[in-house]
Amino acid sequence: MPNHVIIVGAGPAGLSFACSLAQAGVSATVIEKQPRSALEDPEYDGREIALTHQSVKLLKQLGVWRRFPEDQIGLIKKAKVQDGLSPYSLDFDHRDNSLEALGYLVSNHLIRKAVYEQARSHDSIDIITDTSVEAVTSDGAKAEVTLGDGQVLSAPLVAAADSRFSETRRKMGIPASMHDFGRVAIVSRMSHEKSNEQTAFEFFQYGGTLAILPVSEHLSSFVVTATGKQAQALLALSDEAYRDEVHKRLDDSLGEMAIDSKRYAYPLVGVHANRFIDQRFAVIGDAAVGMHPVTAHGFNLGLRGQDTLARAVVDAVSHGKDIGSEQVLERYQRRHRRATLPMYYGTNGIVRLFTNDSPPAKILRQAVIHVSNLFPPVKWAITKKLTETEGPVLLPSP
Ligand SMILES: Cc1cc2nc3c(=O)[nH]c(=O)nc-3n(C[C@H](O)[C@H](O)[C@H](O)COP(=O)(O)OP(=O)(O)OC[C@H]3O[C@@H](n4cnc5c(N)ncnc54)[C@H](O)[C@@H]3O)c2cc1C
Repeated sequence: MPNHVIIVGAGPAGLSFACSLAQAGVSATVIEKQPRSALEDPEYDGREIALTHQSVKLLKQLGVWRRFPEDQIGLIKKAKVQDGLSPYSLDFDHRDNSLEALGYLVSNHLIRKAVYEQARSHDSIDIITDTSVEAVTSDGAKAEVTLGDGQVLSAPLVAAADSRFSETRRKMGIPASMHDFGRVAIVSRMSHEKSNEQTAFEFFQYGGTLAILPVSEHLSSFVVTATGKQAQALLALSDEAYRDEVHKRLDDSLGEMAIDSKRYAYPLVGVHANRFIDQRFAVIGDAAVGMHPVTAHGFNLGLRGQDTLARAVVDAVSHGKDIGSEQVLERYQRRHRRATLPMYYGTNGIVRLFTNDSPPAKILRQAVIHVSNLFPPVKWAITKKLTETEGPVLLPSP
């Protein structure tokens, strides 16, 4: 089939890509190693995904957004960044930017479920579950994958969306730069007596960081980032002792708190593939770039990347050209790397600075917060990056 793509991995990026292609009449086979039940009814995994305006637009276009239960979409109206022991904060407010919200919060399992349901609604998308890809090869004429049961599938293009530790990327010989931050993010939900005022907080405390994401006014997701050793100790605490520890770090600012979910631990490893393409092959989603969650951009970049690749493929179809040609893939690589490289290295730089507790770094950390707050163009640039809004809507008011 000339207009068919094989996608490895039925995560949010792989399935979004399949949906983008389906809308343009390009068919896809998606291969997923998990059982179908894990796609139909994914378990809560503790991840609350902050979505930018650009991502909301893409999810609406794909028909995914309307599948989220309305009462499960959190609005991030304000954001606050605090450093060390100082009460001074870098503040963002949706009203300063004439926006309904700075961003939106949706649980990862709901995104997975909705994008799977949307993919199922397209006859041109075939999803094969319970099998992984054993081998992948390509030549000038086609790309081929061999499945665990020995079945061989071929298409003009294979896209790997099989996570930041992508085996398919490795099988194709694409190297990746990896940075192990030596830290673990522990995520859990807790309800609280006082309102979070729909504010996302980032506290770069000395010795660890704490982020709070507003699920609803009295329910938040708490992301505690700690070294491996500290994380083991935190994970070993009873629910009550863990709640008390978070409560203490917050200095009672949210009042009485109660556990609402178990704790999930995510080791923090950033990954950037050195190339996004090979012959008739592309990496997308976390397989292309796996971000540190502090700037909340992993899936946002994944969505953007699949859209960039889909546009290149669709353009080739409309001109009767080969969808797996070097020209198509180069266009994707060039555009997407322009988006990912500054974000990836910028995020890693922020993490390095704000986890460095040496005296000079502490001074620089405070300086960064003050400069960002006091200079509207700097603040505007940060807001624009974080919310991914277009045009003059975010221009600072005089
Ligand atoms: C704590 C935390 C908080 C985050 N917060 C945010 C946020 O606020 N905003 C944001 O934009 N992003 C955030 N992210 C990042 C976001 O979760 C990821 O970017 C996104 O889930 C990646 O989607 P993906 O489809 O590329 O990969 P994955 O979700 O990893 O899916 C990969 C799929 O491939 C399958 N697979 C793997 N290997 C194979 C194989 N060999 N054969 C077949 N199938 C295979 C897997 O089973 C899986 O279904 C966060 C991440 C973490 C850890």
